[in-house]
Amino acid sequence: MNILESLNLIGSWELDLSTKNITWSKQTYINYGYEPFSIAPSLEFFFSRLVPIYIPQAQKILQDIQNSKEIHTLQAQIIHKDGDIIDVLLSGQTLYNETNEAVKIIGTTQNITKLLNIKKENEELSKLIEISSNEIYIVDIETFSYLYVNQGACDALGYTKEEFYAMTIFDINPKLSQDNASYMRNELRKTNKFTNKTVHKKKDGSLYHAQAFMHTFTYKGKEAYVIFDTDISKNVAAEIALAQQQKNLHHQANHDTLTNLPNRALFLDRLQQIIHSAKRNNTQFALFFIDLDHFKTINDTLGHALGDQVLIEATARLRQCVREADTIARLGGDEFTVILKNIKTQEDVSKIAEKIVTIMRKTITIKNHALYISASIGISMYPKDADESDALIKYADTAMYKAKDEGRDNFQYYKSSMTKFAFERVVMDASLRVAIKEEQFVVYYQPQVDLQTDKIIGMEALVRWIHPLMGLRSPGKFIPLAEESGLIIEIDRLVMRSAMQQFAAWYKAGLNPGTLSLNLAMKQLNEEDFIDILFTTMQEFNFQARWLELEVTEGQVMDNPALSIQKLQQLSQMGIQIAIDDFGTGYSSLSYLKKFPLDKLKIDQSFVRDLPEDEEDIAITKAIIALAKSLKFTIIAEGVETQAQKDFMIENECDLMQGYFFSKPIPASEMEVLLKN
Ligand code: C2E
Ligand code: CA
Ligand code: CA
Repeated sequence: MNILESLNLIGSWELDLSTKNITWSKQTYINYGYEPFSIAPSLEFFFSRLVPIYIPQAQKILQDIQNSKEIHTLQAQIIHKDGDIIDVLLSGQTLYNETNEAVKIIGTTQNITKLLNIKKENEELSKLIEISSNEIYIVDIETFSYLYVNQGACDALGYTKEEFYAMTIFDINPKLSQDNASYMRNELRKTNKFTNKTVHKKKDGSLYHAQAFMHTFTYKGKEAYVIFDTDISKNVAAEIALAQQQKNLHHQANHDTLTNLPNRALFLDRLQQIIHSAKRNNTQFALFFIDLDHFKTINDTLGHALGDQVLIEATARLRQCVREADTIARLGGDEFTVILKNIKTQEDVSKIAEKIVTIMRKTITIKNHALYISASIGISMYPKDADESDALIKYADTAMYKAKDEGRDNFQYYKSSMTKFAFERVVMDASLRVAIKEEQFVVYYQPQVDLQTDKIIGMEALVRWIHPLMGLRSPGKFIPLAEESGLIIEIDRLVMRSAMQQFAAWYKAGLNPGTLSLNLAMKQLNEEDFIDILFTTMQEFNFQARWLELEVTEGQVMDNPALSIQKLQQLSQMGIQIAIDDFGTGYSSLSYLKKFPLDKLKIDQSFVRDLPEDEEDIAITKAIIALAKSLKFTIIAEGVETQAQKDFMIENECDLMQGYFFSKPIPASEMEVLLKN
């Protein structure tokens, strides 16, 4: 039996007031549990079936009703024939004749047990809906205005019910467009349900994510739909965090943590992609290999933290030189690559290379250190040099070494002849190691002469490599490579030993070789055990500290003036003299120069070469001499080849000279002859 059936189960009855006879309709019998018309109903019978507590009320109504024309009702309980108590709604009305006499009462008996149950259930459900912590809304599907909201919705959004009933769904769903709402309405009408994710805006303006489940619904006769919403901000936040984490991991795997540039893996990936697209579109591109000059010195002497800052600054400078679309990557250490896409002419490439070289030259100031770096760039071109990544990389690398050999601070395009050169390099490095092991080095000596007396006051030790097959090789070729690989440290130790031994022998033989000038790489000076080794070597040969002078180049000490001062001070305190080599080619600042424990300044041969004709060189040389005099340094001119150059030096009160004019560097045996004369 469904609800409607039960609602229809209304039985009727009639009470004849004059005879007190009662007649029941068929349904009334059924309502009381009797076979229709199986008994003769009466008032007494009716009262006997009524649950006793209702009897007084029923009797009163029966009285009242006979003096009234109104319908009277009573909700009561009766005892069903099988003993069940059922709820009934009784109603009745008195009918009168023409003379206004009450004739009969007619009425109905309705079994409302089920109805009451439904009502009770409804009340419970409403309460459940109301107190649910979910947000529940009933919305008019036409106007989208709220017909009902539960307390959960009020709590979540911060509005009162009254405020809600004056709003539409657009007020709390700021991202919902009219179009989306219409679409939702259509879907609801089609399938009766709809779900979506939305963003709710609270009364205080804050937002949160919600998941909405909707269902069509008729509410108070209106076409409506009900929405059950849950706050899923936490899930969304977790999802976002997860996605971000995945993105970060991916980024980390492909980027260098220090500079945030693509790393080698991503670089190789990009290069591959760029080759593909260049092939497809018939375009050319350039690959740069960039190595920072002097970076290793900075890192070794000033520490990694400062080195890191330099790399970050170098990255920022690179970014300034290329377009957004170009790739910059860091392969590791001080090695960077740049890919310039869609190149029209080589001139464009040169412009950018020039820009990078220029910008890198600018002083970097970090924590009061003025640092000088520069860049050496090797360039290979697609498709001119190669059309696959391995070769492009190899060629750019080769060209980069060429740039280093050309004195750094420049860029070079790859040429096929370089491959041979790169090979030579590798061979050279290997054979240098053999040379050190087998002591293939000999020391030559070049005298330093007093300009006033023409007497030898000392000599510079210059290394020579006698290769068993290739013969004598000049240091200009292998020293830069040895400096880069660190082999210079061992070479200089060999030279030091050999020269000290020789000097001690000469002194012992009663000769006067004066001061021994040793070229000293800063790298050597920064070795922990350098002073120890120096000291023990001196002791071994009974070599006096006052016989020794160390030459350091201006460029090298200026890489890290503070540290150099400290190290040189230690040597100076031992009674060893310090000379600054190649003076005028670096960037010495006067304030530093004063702090160095210097004894001697060597004017670089590049200034001497064109004397006494070149105006500029004259001016520079004079200025250097004046400066040295004011700081009380002894001054020596390098590379003096002619009488005119010697005269110029005498005239300008230079103290000493060294050069082919007096003698080339010569082996010890020849020097011994010279000393004896
Ligand atoms: P340097 O220290 O400036 O040495 C002077 C260079 O000038 C030497 O070249 C010398 O032979 C050359 N020279 C001297 N007088 C004249 C001249 O009148 N005219 C010309 N044109 N050149 C002259 P060398 O021996 O080829 O050495 C080149 C560089 O290699 C040196 O420059 C020095 O920086 C480095 N070197 C040489 N021996 C050693 C060494 O034992 N240890 C270290 N660390 N470096 C060394
Ligand atoms: Ca020198
Ligand atoms: Ca020099």
